[in-house]
Amino acid sequence: MNSYNNMRKSDIRKSALDFFNEGEGIGKKVTFKEAFPEIQELNIEIIESGKGVGEWNEKGTYTLDFPPAEFIDCSNKLCFKGGLRIADIIHEMAINKTEHCEKCESCFGNETSPKGSKIYKKCLNSFEVKVDIKYK
Ligand SMILES: [Zn+2]
Repeated sequence: MNSYNNMRKSDIRKSALDFFNEGEGIGKKVTFKEAFPEIQELNIEIIESGKGVGEWNEKGTYTLDFPPAEFIDCSNKLCFKGGLRIADIIHEMAINKTEHCEKCESCFGNETSPKGSKIYKKCLNSFEVKVDIKYK
């Protein structure tokens, strides 16, 4: 049996999962603000390095009014469905009420054959992430 605390936690998790599941950008279930109602101000800087990163796509900045998608696409053209799960980081911070976070995450994708059937190696692109959040 779940304790009351566990129940609450899974409720929070569920609303954020809805956000993660918004998928390919269609059929959005909740907006970013609805998924994270406790966030008052948000500032995110993401610097990607690795294959396929040009000056125009090296750095991304996001705010509450211009929030990131569930995940940031990897620029490596050989990488299959890779990127950075930025929503996971924000979710983790929101649960712990963390105000500042700087980390370097590697891409979760793999370099594969064009349709993704053969995996050649792990994608080595990485993302430097800086997040500042103010809570209500
Ligand atoms: Zn990648």
